[in-house]
Amino acid sequence: MQQQGCVYLVGAGPGDPDLLTLKALRLLQEADVVVYDRLISQGVLDLIPGGVSRISVGKAVGHHSMPQDDINELLLNLVRRGRRVVRLKGGDPFIFGRGSEEAMFLRRHGFDFEVVPGITAAAACSAYAGVPLTHRGMSRGVRLVTGHFRDDEPIDLDWRALADPEATLVVYMGLANLPRICSELAAAGMASNMPALAVQSGTTPDQQRVSGDLGSLPEKVKAAGLAAPILIIIGRTVSLAEELDWYVPDGEELDEGAADVAHDRSVHA
Ligand code: SAH
Repeated sequence: MQQQGCVYLVGAGPGDPDLLTLKALRLLQEADVVVYDRLISQGVLDLIPGGVSRISVGKAVGHHSMPQDDINELLLNLVRRGRRVVRLKGGDPFIFGRGSEEAMFLRRHGFDFEVVPGITAAAACSAYAGVPLTHRGMSRGVRLVTGHFRDDEPIDLDWRALADPEATLVVYMGLANLPRICSELAAAGMASNMPALAVQSGTTPDQQRVSGDLGSLPEKVKAAGLAAPILIIIGRTVSLAEELDWYVPDGEELDEGAADVAHDRSVHA
C-alpha cells in the first residue's frame, strides 16, 4: 500500500543553518523530496541527506522563478504519489512566504499539510545587527510590512500608522522602493532623523549593514551598492545597535570603532 503523503511547509530561518529548528532538521532527514526557494542558504541545503530529491523553484541567475500555480501543482503531484514533501522556505513560511496560499491549495484538494515556523528575517536580522525590535521606553510594538509593489501600482500602505514613532517598522522586500518608502514616511510626519538601518544577507558571513536615518538611508544604501536580500529597520531602537553590536561576520575584524555601525565596511566600500 502506498504511504499517505504529506507536505510540510517548513521555515528554514534567515540563512545561518544553526537557526534552523530541530523539527525542520528532523523533517529534512525524513523527507522523500525537498522543494526549496532561492533564499535557502547553502549551509541549510548541505543538511539535506544525499538520498533525498531536491527541486529548486527559485530564481537562478538569468532565469525566472517557477510561477506560484506551477509550484502548487508540483506539490499536489508529489503528495498524490504518497511522497513526504518538505516545502522549504526562507524565514517563516507564513510571513511574506506564500505558505498560506500553498496550504489552502492543498487543503482544497483534500491533502494534509503541517506548518513548521521558522525564524523570520525581522527577528533574525535585527538580533544579528544588535537592534532590539522592542525596548522599554523606546518601542512598544513592531510592524512588519512589504515594500514590494509593482511599478504601475501605488504603494497603498497606511503611512500615518507606519510613521508612529512608538513602534519599530520592519520592511521586507523594500530595496527597490526605499526612496519612496522613506519620503512617504517623512510626508506622514516621521522625523527625518529617525534612525534607520539596512541589513543585507543578515546572519550569514556576507552580512552587511548600512545605518543612517530616514532622510539619509536611501542614498547611503545606493552608495554602498547593497543587493537583495535586504531588510530595512526604522525606529528609535536602531540607535542601540552601537551599544549592542555583537555579531562579526566571517572575515570582518572587530576594530576599535566596530561599535559604530555607521562605519561598517559596507559604508566605506
Ligand atoms: N518568509 C521570509 C520572507 C520572504 S520575503 C521570512 O520570514 O523571513 C523575502 C524578503 O525577506 C527579502 O526581500 C528580505 O527583505 C527579507 N530577508 C529574508 N532573509 C533575509 C536575510 N538573510 N537578510 C536580509 N533580508 C532578508
